[in-house]
Amino acid sequence: MYYNNETQIFLDGKWLKAIDGKTNLYSQTLHYGSGVFEGIRSYKTDEGTSIFKAREHYERLHYSAEKMHIKLNYSVDELIAFTYELLKKNNLEDAYIRPLVYLGQNMSLQPTEEVHVMLCAWEWGRYLGDAQLNLMTSSFQRPNPKSCFVQAKVSGHYTNSILATTEAKQKGFDEALLLDINENVAEGPGANFFFEKDGKLYTCPLGNILAGITRQTIFELAETLGYEVVEKFFKVEEVYDADGAFYTGTAAEVAAIGSLDNHKFKLDWEDTIGYQLAIAYQKCVHTK
Ligand code: PMP
Repeated sequence: MYYNNETQIFLDGKWLKAIDGKTNLYSQTLHYGSGVFEGIRSYKTDEGTSIFKAREHYERLHYSAEKMHIKLNYSVDELIAFTYELLKKNNLEDAYIRPLVYLGQNMSLQPTEEVHVMLCAWEWGRYLGDAQLNLMTSSFQRPNPKSCFVQAKVSGHYTNSILATTEAKQKGFDEALLLDINENVAEGPGANFFFEKDGKLYTCPLGNILAGITRQTIFELAETLGYEVVEKFFKVEEVYDADGAFYTGTAAEVAAIGSLDNHKFKLDWEDTIGYQLAIAYQKCVHTK
């Protein structure tokens, strides 16, 4: 699904076939989760393939690496250039791109000098699909921001996401919604959360969530369309009473949410601000 016998990847400055890629079993990333990564999308546009907000994604990768004491020896510009080359080598236009910065052998809990950079890409449909999602409030909270850098995209942080999604699916829901340590609504396992009430949008402030690049894009598109977005802390009960809601993320794009804990939202998706933003988002990503 992610690669075949011909797929090429970038690894530490070289191009090789994905099937020939090897990793060290004593890697600190494999044992302790101390690696950083990104999730990026490219789109086919009238003026050729365009990587959406490539700079923002690679700046976040640098931020994540710095927070984890990982030396990333490629500049943002170099990483962008390699990524365009990666797409070309694999004949990809509409693609999901996964850069991973991982560490060499080290069984201690101290920073490691050996740093590897891998870039790969594949065709990937919208992560949460196209149907309206039925969410459940997770019994798992987002990590305490004093336990890690929540705004860094660290491999190990995703054990929390895996637990939350697995719990939601096992209980018959499509996806989880996680609270922060103060029991305010935070975000999804891999997406930021917005809800709509009386013509306004609401989302939580930064502090307990990943600073989503799609979230930022939604702020910009909402302003263009003349909708106010309010950043504030709120509880699930406020969401139960919402007119509509959606998730945002690079992989998920703008994903409609139909209900939370079986409380159905009042408006049909097509009548929500979220729907208009989903259309505006598609236009935006398909323009170079
Ligand atoms: N929150 C989490 C936990 C995520 O994994 C993601 C996906 N990267 C997002 C939010 C959305 O971020 P972005 O819009 O930058 O993809």
